[in-house]
Amino acid sequence: MKYDVVVVGSGVAGPTVARDVAKAGFSVLLVDKKAAIGTPKQCAEGITIEVFKEFDIPYDKRFINREIYGAKIYSPSGYTAELRYKHVSGVILERKVFDKMLAYYAAKAGAEVLARTEVVDVIRRNGKIVGVRAKHEGEPLEIEAKVIVAADGVESTIARKAGINTYAPPHEFDSGYEYEMLIEGYDPDLIHLFFGNEVAPRGYVWIFPKDEDRANVGIGIASDHPQTAKYYLDKWLKENNIPMRKILEVNVGLVPVGGFVKELVKDNVLVVGDAARQVNPVHGGGMKEAMKAASIAAKWIIKALEEENLELLKNYSEEWWRTEGPRMEKLLKLRKAMEKLTDEDLDVFVQLVSGTDLEKLAGGNYLEVVKALMKHPKVLMSRRRLEILKALL
Ligand SMILES: Cc1cc2nc3c(=O)[nH]c(=O)nc-3n(C[C@H](O)[C@H](O)[C@H](O)COP(=O)(O)OP(=O)(O)OC[C@H]3O[C@@H](n4cnc5c(N)ncnc54)[C@H](O)[C@@H]3O)c2cc1C
Repeated sequence: MKYDVVVVGSGVAGPTVARDVAKAGFSVLLVDKKAAIGTPKQCAEGITIEVFKEFDIPYDKRFINREIYGAKIYSPSGYTAELRYKHVSGVILERKVFDKMLAYYAAKAGAEVLARTEVVDVIRRNGKIVGVRAKHEGEPLEIEAKVIVAADGVESTIARKAGINTYAPPHEFDSGYEYEMLIEGYDPDLIHLFFGNEVAPRGYVWIFPKDEDRANVGIGIASDHPQTAKYYLDKWLKENNIPMRKILEVNVGLVPVGGFVKELVKDNVLVVGDAARQVNPVHGGGMKEAMKAASIAAKWIIKALEEENLELLKNYSEEWWRTEGPRMEKLLKLRKAMEKLTDEDLDVFVQLVSGTDLEKLAGGNYLEVVKALMKHPKVLMSRRRLEILKALL
């Protein structure tokens, strides 16, 4: 089998690259080890509304569970800050359908798609990578390609096998644990985020409503924490008297929250999405980042193939670092600052920030917010809080 491009992994990043490159007229094979693309999911399924337009994805109710109008955050002592729009600001997807539909769009654009096809290694010939070795339905399969895209998620092995350094220490990952369950008493038009060192060390508990009374209820904590994410999630549910007898699904997964891969391209191999740790380090959202990186990667793959100059692939790494890198580095700084906050600090900050401040913080556009916080007496009185904020300037 010979293609211009083979894309390993059909989550969010993979089919986006495959669709764009196939649309430009090049031959593409998109493979995923899952028997059913999209299943099982490892995600809370929240995504901002603008992705549909930005990445040319149909707003299809088949994969939209619920429209969301904002967010509410809760401090350890129960102080809250709310951001509520009049318009839909995001949606909770059904990723089992969404991922499959993304692969469908890639197929419709001309890509070939093979589920239940696990890539196990790269093929080297005369010192060059010329394709990948896979198992399709258990049978060996050799796929030759001019360009290889590693979109194989957080546990990526393909980029590493191609010689790209994707190592990040355990502290740069969150452990996620999530129930899709019945839950009542929380406004189903908002997502709800609960902070506190006893609630979710370094992370937060989330409620992402999929229905009036059904939601993804999950937690992310530092993966090197001695306790498990499940321990903290179950503790939180018990403490909040939320019955755990209507659980429809359990999801477990790692979320990269730092450790961005420096060299995103080596020769003819590109790494995108979670495999490249391209995830918002503050809230752990990676779908939009994966699509953004995939679009940039696709643009340079098309150019490189059109001009028959694979050297141009390196521009993906350069462009991502130039356009997305600075924002991601700022968010990483913020994540590191947040790690130092005590429960008392969290109570103070949640009381001081407005809904719009929250949006700026989550987007990495936080200088104004930080400067305003630094003038507040509750911050000025604490040398430690000031130091934490100063580090963000
Ligand atoms: C608990 C949890 C909650 C999350 N919640 C959110 C959220 O609400 N919003 C958000 O934006 N992000 C969220 N994320 C992050 C989000 O899921 C990822 O950032 C996103 O899926 C990244 O897309 P991707 O295409 O890079 O990787 P993935 O979606 O992980 O896709 C990788 C694909 O590669 C396939 N694959 C892996 N190895 C191979 C191989 N060797 N051969 C063939 N196929 C292979 C896998 O089967 C998989 O389908 C969450 C993550 C977790 C763990």
